[in-house]
Amino acid sequence: MLPLKDKDKPIVQKLLAAGCCARCILRFCCVSVQAAYRQPQQDTLQDLQAFVSSTDNSKSQDLAAESTEENNKSHNAAASEPPEDPPSKRAKLEPSGPGAPAEEHAAAAAAAAVTLTEEEEDGVCVVCLGILQELCSTTRAVKIAERVKAEKYEFDTLVLSVSLPAQLCVREHSCWLHVKKELREKSMAVDKDDVIQVKEAFKWVMQGRVAKELSGVAVVTRSSFEVGVEFTHPETDSDCHFLATTCGDCFKPTKNKQSVFTRMAVVKALEKISDAKFLQHYPCPPARPSSSCSPQDVQCLHVSVFVAGRYNKFCRSLPQTPWVIDGERRMESSVEELIAAPVLSAFRADGFNFSSSGREDVDVRTLGNGRPFAMELLNPHRSRFSRVEMKQLQEAINKSSDKIRVRDLQIVTRDAMSRMKEGEEEKTKSYTALVWTLKPIQSQDIAFIDDIKDLTLDQKTPLRVLHRRALAVRQRVVHSMNVRFLDSHHFYLGLKTQAGTYIKEFVHGDFGRTKPNMSELLKTDTDILELDVESVDVDWPPSIPE
Ligand code: ZN
Repeated sequence: MLPLKDKDKPIVQKLLAAGCCARCILRFCCVSVQAAYRQPQQDTLQDLQAFVSSTDNSKSQDLAAESTEENNKSHNAAASEPPEDPPSKRAKLEPSGPGAPAEEHAAAAAAAAVTLTEEEEDGVCVVCLGILQELCSTTRAVKIAERVKAEKYEFDTLVLSVSLPAQLCVREHSCWLHVKKELREKSMAVDKDDVIQVKEAFKWVMQGRVAKELSGVAVVTRSSFEVGVEFTHPETDSDCHFLATTCGDCFKPTKNKQSVFTRMAVVKALEKISDAKFLQHYPCPPARPSSSCSPQDVQCLHVSVFVAGRYNKFCRSLPQTPWVIDGERRMESSVEELIAAPVLSAFRADGFNFSSSGREDVDVRTLGNGRPFAMELLNPHRSRFSRVEMKQLQEAINKSSDKIRVRDLQIVTRDAMSRMKEGEEEKTKSYTALVWTLKPIQSQDIAFIDDIKDLTLDQKTPLRVLHRRALAVRQRVVHSMNVRFLDSHHFYLGLKTQAGTYIKEFVHGDFGRTKPNMSELLKTDTDILELDVESVDVDWPPSIPE
């Protein structure tokens, strides 16, 4: 039995006459028993008709005579008999329906009572535009499940998201006003927010059906895997248009949206419009549509998965990210691409975002433990990897190129990824630079450099990055240095510095823009021939034992 109360009877009657489907009627009666929505809509419709007919009988009886308790009891018993009166009465109210095909007219003439029921089943609901009718059938559930299966995602649970045409809100509002009048007469306190939303009812019906088709996977309210179902209804798109004249402010063109009549804007406009004004512009109840909504392609989306690790770069002609100038590639590959290609294919992701703890120039190698990096993998179809599988993926990356090497490859959380960026400026980095001097040098000429500690530099934005960084003087600290004499014009300079120090500029001076600099310290022209990053002292991601 339907969980309806006496107070619902006039609403049910009004909504049946208005052309609402059985499930929409349950919604407007604020029925929150999910099982009621899951039973076949024809059954619900029959139950509603029986419910209404009993109302009619009791009403007429109430009017005909002063009814007693006994009278009511005997009437209730009579109500279970097949009612004859209501169908013909309903048929008079809606003789054939404006959009009914010709053969149905004929059928209607032949058997009025039977045809009425069919008409109500076949007619597209004036509120949900078919979404709670055949668009939430088992057949639809099978189609949705097939689409999900075809994409071969890896998931334990899924969340069903539903996108409805904006005009549904207008129709919902019109229907609400329609029953509100009735409710006012009966002085029943029902709020519009108590009405079950189409979206909600759709999910109640469909979640279980889709789950069953996907061999019992749990359909839940929060999941990393989302199956999006969208409906459009071009026939009634213009339903919203009058709102633009009554509430122009609500409909501002936005860049990404095709139409200004977004669901949000329509809801906002409906909150502002007075009932009287609404009724001036829009029929109440809404007009019967001739077609159901069109289901759009099912969209599957898995939340991003984050992968982190450390990389070495052994090549002096490899940029960190694709190097493109005026639309033309300057280098055939990049660190990012060499790492991403095997990862993307393993996770079967649609794309990625790469970030790292600082970056090195194209001609700089990164040695030692490497540089921390993290990748956001967009819409991964596969997301669960064991430690062993991650190890295998790491090996695959390392086998694919001898220009780079990856270690500590692991899946991390989005939050953990921010650890890489936080306090980056405070971290230290170690480098080795090959330095050339104009004046011939002896080992003892450079020995004093080893004793310099915590040397503060004033670095004016280097000329080479001035096109992308604001002109400023930044203070950076060289914590310590050590030298290894090579020959009379060359030595290796080891540096431990604050992150963000421009090493090349410290060595050659950048035309005096970095002060002090190696040229000043040695009182001769100096230049940097090679640079290696020896370590990036960020203790993330955690190391993974080999
Ligand atoms: Zn409906």
